[in-house]
Amino acid sequence: MLCRLCISFLAGAMLLSASALSQSSRRLTTPKTNSAPSPASSSTLSTRIVAYDIDAKLNTAAHTIDATETLVYRNLTGQPQQIFPFHLYLNAFQPQSTLMTEVRVVGTRGTGPNSGWDDKHHGSITVSKLEVEGMGDLTGKMEFIQPDDRNANDRSVFQVTLPKSIAPGESVQFRMSFHDELPEVLHRTGYKRDFYMVGQWFPKVGVWWKNAWNCHQFHANSEFFADFGTVDVNVTLPKNEIVGASGDLMSSSDNSDGTKTVKFHSEDVHDFSWTASPDYTVLQDSWTGSAGPVKILVLMSPGNMSSASRYIQALKGTLAWYDKWIGPYPYDRITVVDPPHGALDAGGMEYPTLITAGTGWFMPKGRLEPEAVVEHEFGHQYWYGMVATNEFEDAWLDEGINSYLEAKVMDELYGKNTSRFNFPFATAGNSEYQRLAYISLPDTDPLTRFSWKYIDDNAYGAVAYDKTATVLITLEKLIGEDTLRAALHEYFLRYRFKHPTGEDFLKTIEDVSHQDLKWYFDQAVYGTNILDYEIWNAHSDRLNWWEKEISGKNAGDEIHRTYVTVHRKGDFVFPVDVVIKFDDGTSATEHWDGRDRWIRYTYDRKAELASAQLDPENQVWLDRNLFNNSYTVQEDKRAVHKLQNLWIFASECLSQFLAWIS
Ligand SMILES: [Zn+2]
Repeated sequence: MLCRLCISFLAGAMLLSASALSQSSRRLTTPKTNSAPSPASSSTLSTRIVAYDIDAKLNTAAHTIDATETLVYRNLTGQPQQIFPFHLYLNAFQPQSTLMTEVRVVGTRGTGPNSGWDDKHHGSITVSKLEVEGMGDLTGKMEFIQPDDRNANDRSVFQVTLPKSIAPGESVQFRMSFHDELPEVLHRTGYKRDFYMVGQWFPKVGVWWKNAWNCHQFHANSEFFADFGTVDVNVTLPKNEIVGASGDLMSSSDNSDGTKTVKFHSEDVHDFSWTASPDYTVLQDSWTGSAGPVKILVLMSPGNMSSASRYIQALKGTLAWYDKWIGPYPYDRITVVDPPHGALDAGGMEYPTLITAGTGWFMPKGRLEPEAVVEHEFGHQYWYGMVATNEFEDAWLDEGINSYLEAKVMDELYGKNTSRFNFPFATAGNSEYQRLAYISLPDTDPLTRFSWKYIDDNAYGAVAYDKTATVLITLEKLIGEDTLRAALHEYFLRYRFKHPTGEDFLKTIEDVSHQDLKWYFDQAVYGTNILDYEIWNAHSDRLNWWEKEISGKNAGDEIHRTYVTVHRKGDFVFPVDVVIKFDDGTSATEHWDGRDRWIRYTYDRKAELASAQLDPENQVWLDRNLFNNSYTVQEDKRAVHKLQNLWIFASECLSQFLAWIS
């Protein structure tokens, strides 16, 4: 039987009610709790590897969770499996963990290097019992492992060795009891006063990928990777809590001890997070796309209500853009969580069908961060949620593609030159802003660097997000914007509900564009080459310079020789166009393959040089320095002045924004 539910929020004190269940979903099928997950069929969106069933109780006095978890894992690895690794992400919130050790060195999300330790940020997850159906209690078979750095003090991954293997195609059922101690909000998760953002909170099995288990430790600059399946979660918590989660609300029932139990169900997802606060103001809306209606739920924190309509407008605009250009959004819900004052580190994060936004008590309309963060996190429903790349190893594929499209959506919704800042004294477009971040650190790391191996947190942001976006904008010059958009659409269709690699992405672009782009990808994706072309010099000289200058009525007949020298400063080879304008209004356009180190163009004309301009269409955004791209006989200082103003302004805002968008 198919069922679907609609979350109904009543005005006033009544918070979350599960009364309004509606029938039939074209997208979500009836849960099969505790049964083996079914592989993809005509009725499921994904190949379901995992089925989690979690019963959790939140203690709001101690900020802890006690829970039991049943995981049915279907062995589709094609070979017998006896050892299973699990993530215990909350154990990273300890001073000697790998994550905290890395934060101390390279910083993360707004926490700079050398930041101190505060006990309020302690977090942990303890598995007190692990049983496997038919094999008994295997708690004693659990061992912490550190596959990435051998840090014996890191307990963010454990593995268990079963007494016998699970055959290909068979399922195994794990049953665990675990206890969470939540940190005060840090690194996307935790509590702040009575606000809870509970992410990465339960033992999660690794992914069998590239013929091996992929189960990285939790790092300062890494996100996540998991298999698709179903998640059923019951949360018991005080009655006055307003709850949002990565699932459909199936029921809510009051208990005799002043608590209530809310039940959520989610399908074809690879994670589950939830939030609770008694202080949320709940807003409901809806949007209908090509896959049907989508319930919009917005949970606003006190003092932030002025941003609510901005979130919703950005969300609906993004839903519509993605539906039109990339593909359908197949889930029946999306929840936006607005973290309260002091908990912004929980903001700017994505989970399946739930995103966290971020704003402030005073957020002028000219600053489009609230819009950008909702656009960005919703975009992750596609680039992470459905196209589920390995965020540990290939951050550029989720963050970079998402950042590129963030600019496209924001430009369409808020104007190409005003989609990031829109003040009378300064404006900036979203992609212009991304380019500024890229040029601040253009060459420390290739896009393909594992996320925790960047030189530091700033480089992770500048390269994985902003350089990738800029690489894709520059790719438009080679294959056209429409072709690149068609390639992203094709990439989504091919790999939604799968775990594609970087090679899959690049091959899709080549397939759709019918071009061999290896030369570009080798430099832009796998390399750290700097792209920088400049007008080395340009001037006109009398052809017969040794003769006396012609004067009088024949003065205009003198022939001038004009020289324009273009220099490739960096190692990145890229074809460039040069437009040379003369003082009689004529011009010449040159196309240089850029392979040699420099080229000189020469013209013999009566007219003299007026200007020389590289990349006249302003398409080569990877060019690190645009100020050396032009030469004008009579310089127009105004444009430079405006850009300098913008740079100062953007630089000031950049670090603040990058601190919490994820
Ligand atoms: Zn992101």
